[in-house]
Amino acid sequence: MAKTIQAIRGMNDILPGQSPAWQYVEGVIRKVAAQYSYQEIRMPVLESTELFKRSIGEVTDIVEKEMYTFDDRNGDSLTLRPEGTASCVRAGNEHGLLYNQTPRLWYMGPMFRHERPQKGRYRQFHQFGIEAFGMDGPEIDAEVILLSARLWQEFGIAEQLELQINSLASNEARGRYRDALRDYLRQHEEALDEDSKRRLDSNVLRILDSKSPETQALLVDAPRLSDYWDEESRAHFEGLTERLAAAGVKCVLNEKLVRGLDYYNRTVFEWVTTELGAQGTVCAGGRYDGLVEQLGGKATPAVGFAMGIERLVLLLESQDRIPSVTAVDLYLMAGDERAELKLPAVAEKVRDKHPGLKVMLHSGTQNLKKKLMKADKSGATYALIVDCDVNGRLEYQYKHLRKRDEDKNFTDLAELAGLLD
Ligand code: ATP
Ligand code: MG
Repeated sequence: MAKTIQAIRGMNDILPGQSPAWQYVEGVIRKVAAQYSYQEIRMPVLESTELFKRSIGEVTDIVEKEMYTFDDRNGDSLTLRPEGTASCVRAGNEHGLLYNQTPRLWYMGPMFRHERPQKGRYRQFHQFGIEAFGMDGPEIDAEVILLSARLWQEFGIAEQLELQINSLASNEARGRYRDALRDYLRQHEEALDEDSKRRLDSNVLRILDSKSPETQALLVDAPRLSDYWDEESRAHFEGLTERLAAAGVKCVLNEKLVRGLDYYNRTVFEWVTTELGAQGTVCAGGRYDGLVEQLGGKATPAVGFAMGIERLVLLLESQDRIPSVTAVDLYLMAGDERAELKLPAVAEKVRDKHPGLKVMLHSGTQNLKKKLMKADKSGATYALIVDCDVNGRLEYQYKHLRKRDEDKNFTDLAELAGLLD
């Protein structure tokens, strides 16, 4: 027998048993995005490698070790997108959607990162993201966060998520803080973990979220970012937290929240849960006022977030929050040979009359008992048996195979009988 071929490690099939959960999640997301007047944008999954190097930053985890990068047949270096923001800005610049405009956009789709696969961390995963351009006030940061908060409400998981928030302030203020943090950590360099030693020069802020207990102990007395905030950033931060408080959304200041991508300034935030183990961040975002210009556009402020759909689905499953759906409402079978020929036509008629009904047609010639067993196995609510009388007239018989919480479209057999006349 030929050897079977397996999927790439960390790249998952979403099987028929799981797709209803995904469709539910995607449906709620689409609905909520529309409630805020955000419009969908779809970008290609492949981009020039240069795009991610220039936006995410050369010394970030993503660009240093997580990208799927290869040369195509022309020798151009391409990369499977590891995130959506860079592509969204690229598309916005390319099509003139950003400058002097205020587009509110969303996207959803697969992203690719070569990480060690584990629960909540995969090599192909999916993100829903939103990006709002051209608006620099805290009200739009608040809108973006309130949109995410509404999603948790809709999904019934608001209790499981905590909003952590910080300000990375202006580039200048952050630069001063970076120097102060570096000076402080240099005095204790020998106590730093290896990763953090390396980051002293390249990306000192990332040391703040080091997992090493020794490094974390050192950080207790380290300079604090909020002591370096510039006045405008402080006012922006307060403007945001006041709006969130007025809208009844709680947040906690996490001064060590710096995010792994280079392009953020001012507001950064994460929605974190304790229900998923180490992979607890379900949604993360912030302001990136410099990115549009950095990618060749005219300076345009922006704010957005990205949400990991796999982690969201895992969280919903853990809270038993995924509504069950019926795979089949009505299973159609012929009781005799003459009815066999008419069965597809009957099925079409039922579909015409009841577009919302999931109709499954029996396939194959078996005795009625076997057909009914199949109907039952399909999970159908009803079985409809079609016969032909001596005059060639169709006769119907119904079986209510199982009770549903919410019975679909018709509530009793009489109504179903009426469908076909
Ligand atoms: P983490 O700290 O977990 O590695 P990140 O900071 O790299 O996350 P972002 O780039 O901010 O993640 O992506 C936004 C969201 O996308 C994350 O909060 C998470 O929900 C999801 N995500 C990121 N990487 C993965 C992955 N490899 N597998 C599944 N989901 C992911
Ligand atoms: Mg990561």
